[in-house]
Amino acid sequence: MKKPKFKIIQGPAAHERTLEFPMPRGARDGRIKSGLQYHYFGGTEEEWRHKTRGAGGWRDRDWQRKKAYEAEGLAAAALRVKTDEGWRVDVAPYSWEHTCQVVARVLTSTRVQNRFGYIPKVTIHTGAGRRVARGGRVGSTPWLCLPVWSRTDLVILHEIAHVLTPLWEPHGRLWARTYLELVKWELGADKHKILKEAFRTKRVKFNRRRVAKSDGFFLAE
Ligand SMILES: [Zn+2]
Repeated sequence: MKKPKFKIIQGPAAHERTLEFPMPRGARDGRIKSGLQYHYFGGTEEEWRHKTRGAGGWRDRDWQRKKAYEAEGLAAAALRVKTDEGWRVDVAPYSWEHTCQVVARVLTSTRVQNRFGYIPKVTIHTGAGRRVARGGRVGSTPWLCLPVWSRTDLVILHEIAHVLTPLWEPHGRLWARTYLELVKWELGADKHKILKEAFRTKRVKFNRRRVAKSDGFFLAE
């Protein structure tokens, strides 16, 4: 694995580490371009909010969470690694240092930067005293909380997908699509296929919602 370059800053809070990434030559912007995600899926953020509206008013904002977790469990069981003793389920968590390396590698990858823009830094919490893994942003800085149990490829990419997608619909289509893409880019086509099949089995939606556009109105499918 090629080691990514970054500067480590301890803090701002205890149990937190901030990684600063040097700006690559010709980088487009110093911030995550959230608008790009909507463009990529077609439409503006306003249109996306409209599209996620259910028939009886606003949908539960985290409508896919349970299904997404179930699918991830299925995929994790299917993702086995070969060791000297044979095949085993890949659940051994990474060390803290390796976890930081993985996060840095993903956020500075050419594919992520081409889609989301240059990301200048990320803050990672060790998860000390916390049970839940999280991904989001504090101000415009990506923030991850990765307790020991969560330091596996799938969970780290799950949380990074939150960092890169709208937080008003945490496990929505944009998130699911981005998660799948990160898995494809980082873990390869085989693992991508496993997660995609798990999403299909558990009916996690990851495609653009089919809507008919007519005179500026979106008509639900
Ligand atoms: Zn999540």
